[in-house]
Amino acid sequence: MKIGILGGGQLARMLALSGYPLGFEFVFLCPVPDACAAALGEHLCADFEDQAALQQLAKKVDVVTYEFESVPADSVAYLNEKLPVYPPPLALATARDRLLEKNLFNELGINTAAFVAVNSLADLEEAVAKIGLPAILKTRTLGYDGKGQQRLFAGSKLKDAWDGLHHAAAILEGFVGFEREVSIIAVRSASGEMAFYPLTENKHEDGILHLSTSLRDDPMQTLAEDYAQRLLEHLDYVGVLAIEFFQLDGQLLVNEMAPRVHNSGHWTIEGAVTSQFENHLRAITGLPPGSTALTGHSAMLNIIGELPDIRTLLNMPNTHLHLYGKAARAGRKLGHITVCTESEASLKKLLAQL
Ligand code: AMP
Repeated sequence: MKIGILGGGQLARMLALSGYPLGFEFVFLCPVPDACAAALGEHLCADFEDQAALQQLAKKVDVVTYEFESVPADSVAYLNEKLPVYPPPLALATARDRLLEKNLFNELGINTAAFVAVNSLADLEEAVAKIGLPAILKTRTLGYDGKGQQRLFAGSKLKDAWDGLHHAAAILEGFVGFEREVSIIAVRSASGEMAFYPLTENKHEDGILHLSTSLRDDPMQTLAEDYAQRLLEHLDYVGVLAIEFFQLDGQLLVNEMAPRVHNSGHWTIEGAVTSQFENHLRAITGLPPGSTALTGHSAMLNIIGELPDIRTLLNMPNTHLHLYGKAARAGRKLGHITVCTESEASLKKLLAQL
């Protein structure tokens, strides 16, 4: 079976790496000439809106998926007329727009931080009066890793924040003084079978994910699974879905969802019986999900901006290195390290050395 992927970054690359043992082949549509997934399949180097390239992709593959939520909706709709595109376009359209996704969460009884739509400076002034400060102004679309956001504190100049987002449609969101951030990776097959990985605790630096640690028997697991199940069923979802939460006073508030494999699930490559990448491919090709059980105590550290000393890392026990084949650049995700041990104590000890 041939799988088409919109995007050719590290998520596409890791999907392909997990798909070869199952006999799948891959075609990537990605405008970046040196896309890091390109070595793992056929690379159609063209814009996502390029009709001829989309037509070519549709002819070559049996099913299409994507590695990021900003793929143009029209391109997905065009492909979906010709062959299955998973996760379904409704999930994509919802997840790419912070206002639509937050409205859906609330409609399904899933709690969020307070939020208000902002389309003008006057709206922003009203929103601040309603929600209070501190708060975060976020563009509705195209924001990731903390980009497209302005933090507002008492005394902040609202006009500067509004100008800073170039007057893009936005939401103002109340600032959550969370105790911790967790995420759940869930998967639903074409026949409706669902599986959930154990919760992951996430630490960010400068808005970018830095460290993810898999949790065991966490008291929030059942609630997170319940929320994930509501979304998977409502969206008639097929594939992997990631949901990020803030935990506050024994409650989970959803921050956002991603209709794809997710950075906070990279530890599953070594740390779970079946990785998030394999489970995504199983789901979109009509196969049943594999076990999401833990294989040990795991954590994942992102390699951002510059490469660490590889020899030192590879000399450390229970440490796995994943490099994405990307040139080093400040703020860029170049790879990740997974540490997977038999006990929590040895995990902590190893992480302290990294
Ligand atoms: P996002 O792009 O929405 O995922 O935000 C990136 C990171 O910024 C989150 O993982 C949080 O650490 C932080 N953040 C985003 N929204 C809020 C909020 N409403 N309150 C507190 N921290 C937030």
